[in-house]
Amino acid sequence: MLKIGITGGIGSGKTTVCRLFRALGAPVYDADTRARWLMENNPALRNALSSAFGADVFDANGRLDRPYLAAVVFGNSTALAQLNGLVHPAVGADFAIWAAAQAANGATYVLKEAALMFESDSWRQLDGVIAVTAPAAVRLARVLHRDPHRSLQQIEAIMAQQLPDAEKIARAQYVLHNDGGELLIPQVLALHTRFLNTTLAPVKT
Ligand code: ATP
Repeated sequence: MLKIGITGGIGSGKTTVCRLFRALGAPVYDADTRARWLMENNPALRNALSSAFGADVFDANGRLDRPYLAAVVFGNSTALAQLNGLVHPAVGADFAIWAAAQAANGATYVLKEAALMFESDSWRQLDGVIAVTAPAAVRLARVLHRDPHRSLQQIEAIMAQQLPDAEKIARAQYVLHNDGGELLIPQVLALHTRFLNTTLAPVKT
């Protein structure tokens, strides 16, 4: 069974692309949602988070205190690396279990959506990665429209922290152009057909 990643900058259209693949019957693993679930529910990860960042990481009801954790890692690259070093392997292990279940269920291919694909080691578990790309100005306009709570400056700050599109494209095996010029559905259909029929693409190192 093929395991394919989907990545792209903020507002590039990852979630939109995943919706299309889901509609075609492909199982999709959402790494960001799953990471949040694991931080709340995986006992080993909870213990590791408490040991690393203190018991205050969880509130009196045992819920993850996200604002507290965000404040701890904000502007602290060592703490952020430590957090990612705990969460990413837990997500990787969880994805492996999920993917095995999909294979047992007869899936031909599965997708893993992750904003941080090349920034983490996530791509190493996969047979290929799709980069979803759109010009920065288009992405900015989309996110401003989608997320009224975010300012232009906040979105630009997130973009500045992300790997540039050119680097994602260079490292990906497949590219989906979501700039509004090329229709997305035919591009997704073409990849779907390819994944159903192809042998594994070599992963770049
Ligand atoms: P994030 O990184 O923030 O999770 P994303 O890469 O998952 O973003 P989406 O949420 O899929 O991006 O798309 C961003 C916004 O742009 C959404 O409101 C979506 O409906 C819209 N959008 C995506 N693709 C297109 C398109 N081709 N034409 C018009 N709107 C689009």
